[in-house]
Amino acid sequence: MIHVTILASGSSGNAILAKAGDTSILIDAGLSAKRLSALLADLETPAESLEGILLTHEHIDHTRGLKGLCAKKAIPVFTNPLTADSLRKGDTQAHWHFFASGAAFQVGDFNIHPFSVPHDAADPVGFVLRYESSSFAILTDLGHAPRQVVNATRGVNAVLLEANHDEALLQNDTKRPWSVKQRILSRHGHLSNQAAANFIAEIASPALRHVLLAHLSEDCNAPALATGTILEKLQATGNGHTQVHCPGAEGFPLPHTIGV
Ligand SMILES: [Zn+2]
Ligand SMILES: [Zn+2]
Repeated sequence: MIHVTILASGSSGNAILAKAGDTSILIDAGLSAKRLSALLADLETPAESLEGILLTHEHIDHTRGLKGLCAKKAIPVFTNPLTADSLRKGDTQAHWHFFASGAAFQVGDFNIHPFSVPHDAADPVGFVLRYESSSFAILTDLGHAPRQVVNATRGVNAVLLEANHDEALLQNDTKRPWSVKQRILSRHGHLSNQAAANFIAEIASPALRHVLLAHLSEDCNAPALATGTILEKLQATGNGHTQVHCPGAEGFPLPHTIGV
């Protein structure tokens, strides 16, 4: 079984702890190093015990604590070379381990498959983590879901998926200038609730037990709206067996853990 704990989700920071067998890994480090270290210690997985930190991309809401965590101990950081290059420009030194997007690799007991996603970063990826017969996909920060993303994730047991915004709420938002709205809505921006629902309908199978909704916009989305859109689609496509969680929302306080 893979134990997945969502430590943080959203534009203020993203970080996920995954444990299987004897291995603990962190996927993204978007909180401060101090906050991450405290959360990991509470979960009896001190930062020093991590076998690796995997990065989806270099944006600050995914890497805020990386420099601090790596300054304390040489935790291996698994990323592709272009993502590392942009972080190095920001003066982050780390014990880099490079993967090529599309080529699976092993970290301890985890088999990890990174795949490219369309987003406005250097070389952004999603991941499928596998351990024994369990599989868990991580898919945040993507403007749309092309065929290769659907193919990479179809049949997984659980998925953490971005449901960033409700399109109507975003269009009517008065805080964001037009250029920012265009960036979010673009094919290299973020997934709307409806786009997330359509994606789930494509990868749903009898094996899909959990959908964790992530990276919700505070102003342009609401947990009940996102969850409702996904549940409606799951039911309409005969996938009522799949549970939908919205970590951080009422009833799902952070950190939020599931077994996959
Ligand atoms: Zn992000
Ligand atoms: Zn991003």
